[in-house]
Order: sequence, then C-alpha cells, then structure tokens
Amino acid sequence: MLKGKVAIVTGSTSGIGLGTARALAGAGADVMLNGFGAPDAVASLVRDIAGEHGVRVRHNGADLTRTDGVEALVGETLAAWGRIDILVNNAGIQHVAPVEDFPVERWDAVIALNLSAVFHATRLALPGMKERGWGRIVNIASAHGLVASAQKAAYVAAKHGVVGLTKVVGLETAGTGVTCNAICPGWVLTPLVQAQIDALAAARGLTTDAARAELLGAKQPSGDFVTPEQIGGFTTFLCSPSADQITGAALSIDGGWTAQ
Ligand code: NAD
Repeated sequence: MLKGKVAIVTGSTSGIGLGTARALAGAGADVMLNGFGAPDAVASLVRDIAGEHGVRVRHNGADLTRTDGVEALVGETLAAWGRIDILVNNAGIQHVAPVEDFPVERWDAVIALNLSAVFHATRLALPGMKERGWGRIVNIASAHGLVASAQKAAYVAAKHGVVGLTKVVGLETAGTGVTCNAICPGWVLTPLVQAQIDALAAARGLTTDAARAELLGAKQPSGDFVTPEQIGGFTTFLCSPSADQITGAALSIDGGWTAQ
C-alpha cells in the first residue's frame, strides 16, 4: 500500500516509534529512523527492518531538541530520497515533579522535543507534501493531550499543544491531499513508562508487578497496556485511503482512560 512512499519516524530506535517504523516498512514505505542508541544496535535495526520488508531504511541520530537537529533530519531524508510523504512526530521525553519544583532545564527540554520539534518537522515537510498533493502527518500525542495528571506540567502542556497544532495543520491543509492527526495513547509499556513503574516501585516499596498493576489501575480501565504494534497499525490505517477524510483529529487508543 505504501510502496514508493518515504516516511520519517522520529524517536524510532525504541518503543512506539520503533513499532510504527516496522509497521510502515511492513506496508512498503522506505523509512528514515531517528533516535539515540548504541551504533551497533542501531545498525542492526536498520539491517533487520530493511531485510525483513525489502524497503530502504536509514538512520539519522539528530538531537531534535535543537532546531538544527530537526533541519538535519529532514535535510538528510530529502538528500537521500528526494521526498517526505509520511511524517510521524513521535520522539518524546517525560519528567515528573510538582510545578514549583519543576527544573527549568527539564521544562525547556520537554517543550523543545515534545512540542517545538513537531512544529519544525511539520513546517519543513509540508511544502513537498502539498506540491505532490499527498501527505500524512501523524503526531504521537498522548491521553495527556486531552486530560491532565499531577506532576506532569511540561508533558501535559506540550501534548495539549500538539493536539492544538494538529488541529491548525489539519485546517490549513484541508483539501490539499495532506492530512494531519494526533494519536493519543494511554499507557504503553516502553522504556519511558518502565522508568515510571520503577520510580513508583521504589517510592512505595512495591514489586515491579504490583507497581505496574497500580499504574494501570489508576488510569486505564482495560487493565492492559496498549502495544507499539497497535499504534503502528493505527498509523498505517491513517496512511490508507480509508482515512482520507480524517484530519485535524485527536484519536484515542487508551483502553478507556479518557472515557472516564
Ligand atoms: P521511548 O523512551 O521508548 O522512546 C523514545 C524515543 O525518542 C527513543 O527512540 C529515543 O532515542 C528518542 N529520543 C529521545 N530524546 C530524543 C532527542 N532529543 N532527539 C531525538 N530522539 C530522541 O518512549 P515511548 O514510550 O516509545 O514514547 C514515544 C512517544 O509516545 C513520546 O512522544 C511519548 O510521549 C508518547 N507516548 C508514550 C506513552 C507510553 O505510555 N509509553 C503514552 C502516550 C504517549
């Protein structure tokens, strides 16, 4: 379905981004990976995904908290393959602290990566998409783009910002063949969430299993994690003709979290 299309997936050396990159490659897209990781591990990811799906795969390790990092990622993709058809803005970080104690440097980093990088990648990828009359921008926001939790000021502010930006880009591209949507996952068991489970276990003297059950029980009525593969499948659907008229939307995949 996506043969001949070029996709960038930011933050795709781990977790949701990796699941999404695999899903898009499975549908035939060439994929530019981005994110941090040991050179050997990243090289083997590139080889595995390319070999498994018969598509072209590259990796650019730019730090997307920097505007010139986003420019480098987009620039290398255009230099290598001449086009960007699908942009998945996924890279994100978390920091947990009460607002009055929130380290200013952590606020700046979360806003830079989780929100500003989405703006920069979008503004750089859009002109080519509009010119060709087809494009898909999928922003991995969060349930925290729709509702809040205590201690997550920067993350919640950034993710609400992503949902707002998604609506604006959806309106500005309506009728051009380009769509822009936000996926809002609940808990997905990735290194980002494992760190929060470990912190909860340490703070409350719980086993990892008990901390995991408590984390899910507090927010996610299904009692189960969303998987990176499910988010990859959802993103691939948004790239299909069935989704041509879905744009500017914030789409939940959260086991009922935001239905409460
Ligand atoms: P993860 O920690 O497993 O992966 C994050 C990825 O981003 C990695 O590839 C990492 O190398 C990359 N990255 C980190 N800092 C970067 C930087 N400065 N520049 C470029 N890349 C950088 O996290 P995840 O859980 O897969 O999260 C991915 C996205 O999904 C994030 O935007 C997160 O907010 C969102 N999300 C996660 C959950 C969840 O429960 N895990 C829920 C909702 C939304």
